[in-house]
Amino acid sequence: MKSKHTADNEARLISLESDLGYVIERNQLELYYQPKVFAETNQIVGGEALLRWNHPEWGIISPNDFIPIAEKTGFINEIGKWVKKTACKQNKAWQDAGLPKIPISINLAATRFLESDLISHAMDTLKETKLESQYLEIEITETFLLENEKVVFSVLDELRNLGIKIALDDFGTGYSSLSSLNRFKGKIDILKIDRSFIQDLSSSHEEDSNFIVKMIIQLSHQLKMSVIAEGVETNEQLTMLQKYNCNMIQGYLYSKPIPAIEFAKLLKKDKLDPLEYSN
Ligand code: C2E
Ligand code: MG
Ligand code: MG
Repeated sequence: MKSKHTADNEARLISLESDLGYVIERNQLELYYQPKVFAETNQIVGGEALLRWNHPEWGIISPNDFIPIAEKTGFINEIGKWVKKTACKQNKAWQDAGLPKIPISINLAATRFLESDLISHAMDTLKETKLESQYLEIEITETFLLENEKVVFSVLDELRNLGIKIALDDFGTGYSSLSSLNRFKGKIDILKIDRSFIQDLSSSHEEDSNFIVKMIIQLSHQLKMSVIAEGVETNEQLTMLQKYNCNMIQGYLYSKPIPAIEFAKLLKKDKLDPLEYSN
């Protein structure tokens, strides 16, 4: 017999799959925003838009739980367009309200790259929302890039020609060697070091545990990319990253992803205090 837990999970999955097709018309999607902070000054220099699904029965659902279903069913394209438009519109509204002008990044699903209307939709969205292209960033994952290098690079060139910046997300998880970074030169503007490396940072065993992060930062700088550390939670990690000249910091130490209204309040403050996160 199935346990209640398994049965519940299955019921949830089936419900999610059939409900997913209606999320946009039922107004159930919401973007949360997480600040990116300049490591030296604590100043907010960007933000990442992260998708949430407010499900009437199951509550707030994390993208890790429904993006894979959306990719499987093909509905991800519709969702991706909604994300891009909503993030651009929101950023323009913040700018019009006199808040500091910062780039906001969106995460692009792997399959979006294979769609022919990606570039035209990006152009249309910027035009329609009147947001300048320098304030839109696109994050793509390393694994996808490695698997489809040729196609992805040509799309990236087109996006960068429009003035949109490209960030390589979850760097270090895709099993690419550090030397493959060289191939990304001139294609990728920002490198995001995956949280798994940040978690290992320590001030007591500096040489052993921090070696990789230190190398990634140095190499990226040589290749004219700026570097952001993901998932920074402690002051110890921050201190190490500052020491290695990491450009930007993102993580619970400064703020979790929060609704647009809350994010606007942070933007107004301009600078954030690092506050240790404990679960
Ligand atoms: P990601 O792009 O690597 O986003 C970072 C994830 O780490 C986010 O999880 C964020 O909430 C979490 N995070 C940030 N700082 C910390 C920290 O200090 N500690 C810990 N433990 N976690 C931290 P989230 O929001 O659940 O998103 C998960 C993934 O879902 C994202 O990973 C991204 O790959 C995907 N995703 C989110 N929004 C979208 C979207 O609009 N479109 C697509 N295609 N994928 C999305
Ligand atoms: Mg991301
Ligand atoms: Mg990431």
